Amino acid sequence: MERSITLKRNREEPLLRRHPWLFSGAVEKVSGDPELGDTVEILSSKGEWIARGAYSPHSQIRVRVWTWDPDEVVDADFIASRVSTALHHRELEENDENVQAYREIHAESDMLPGVVVDRYADFRVVQILSAGAEQWREALQDALVAQGGCKGLFERSDLEVRALEGLEARTGLMWGNEPPEHLQIQEGDLKYDVSIRTGQKTGFYLDQRHNRQNVRKWIWGGSVLDGFCYTGGFALNAYRAGASAILALDSSEDAIHQAAQHSEINAIPGGAIEWRVADVFSELRKLRDEDRSFDVVILDPPRFAPTSAHIHKAARGYKDINLFAFKLLKPGGRLITFSCSGGVSPELFQKIVSDAALDAGVNAQIREWLAQSSDHPVATSFPEGRYLKGLVCTV
Ligand code: SAH
Repeated sequence: MERSITLKRNREEPLLRRHPWLFSGAVEKVSGDPELGDTVEILSSKGEWIARGAYSPHSQIRVRVWTWDPDEVVDADFIASRVSTALHHRELEENDENVQAYREIHAESDMLPGVVVDRYADFRVVQILSAGAEQWREALQDALVAQGGCKGLFERSDLEVRALEGLEARTGLMWGNEPPEHLQIQEGDLKYDVSIRTGQKTGFYLDQRHNRQNVRKWIWGGSVLDGFCYTGGFALNAYRAGASAILALDSSEDAIHQAAQHSEINAIPGGAIEWRVADVFSELRKLRDEDRSFDVVILDPPRFAPTSAHIHKAARGYKDINLFAFKLLKPGGRLITFSCSGGVSPELFQKIVSDAALDAGVNAQIREWLAQSSDHPVATSFPEGRYLKGLVCTV
């Protein structure tokens, strides 16, 4: 019997508009006993074929769509063809000698739900995040190897979302050579040592590549505070832009240790950037109590709201740090502030930052709206893909 999912009445609309997720609440009937990750046909309440996707019985996202083309079979060739298309769209990055690390496959937005592939010089880091992607793990590996140009594939399928899909975490060498403990990449005129085995995400925040460059145009000497600095991306760029005093904060000791190494390998004089292990929430208050002020404050916090369920708590967090950031700005200063929470829309983020300015008692202007780098595309049918947003504000 064909494995299929029949939808409830009037629940077809999002799928007909090519949204790639079918939520459990829209399912009327499951036929043919599909198992975790199996390919199923999605049928309207009247039995008409709509799409074909991967079944995930434990997740609220019950099916992730592979294709809306009835003639497209989901097999190893299909995976290879999607991989090839995604990599074709990275020609911009591939041909730019200033970019050695970038995202090659961005899951749903590259029509490969649950698949993330990041390129770090001669290595690829693979994340398999859904039951459907897990089913095609070998085909994915073969397709990536066939693309050539890399010495090894390393798997970092260690995200919490795997548990929601009923999958165990998995990390380790997938194919080829073991990557070095620290893999050096060049981004513009800066070098970074990335730990793809244990670093956050796949080792580096590739989605901020454009923005790390972009902050330079807002810095003309003066002092900079980089909150949530990770391994120093924004602070190092601030130094290159001519900032005279930089304070960079992160709660992770490993990140701060690596950031200090980055000062060294980029021949930045010791002391030019002060790297400090600290909790930004309390440190901002401390800096205010010490009457410190800065020409530029950069805030790039972790994801406060993975989904809209966490929206209120997240909003309070963003409000808090942006309020204190405004208070720490010198007259004429700039706040460069980000949110990578998928659950917080760009409009909501702008409202929170506006409220923070109001409460801080400053007149602020928005100069620029920022987003994730172009190697992190957003499928037009998948607005959720637009998760990273930023504002440049002046006071
Ligand atoms: N801007 C960085 C990426 C920042 S990611 C870059 O371009 O590379 C967010 C960082 O916030 C992580 O490094 C994480 O360790 C840190 N972090 C999380 N909670 C924190 C807190 N309460 N105080 C300080 N840092 C925190």
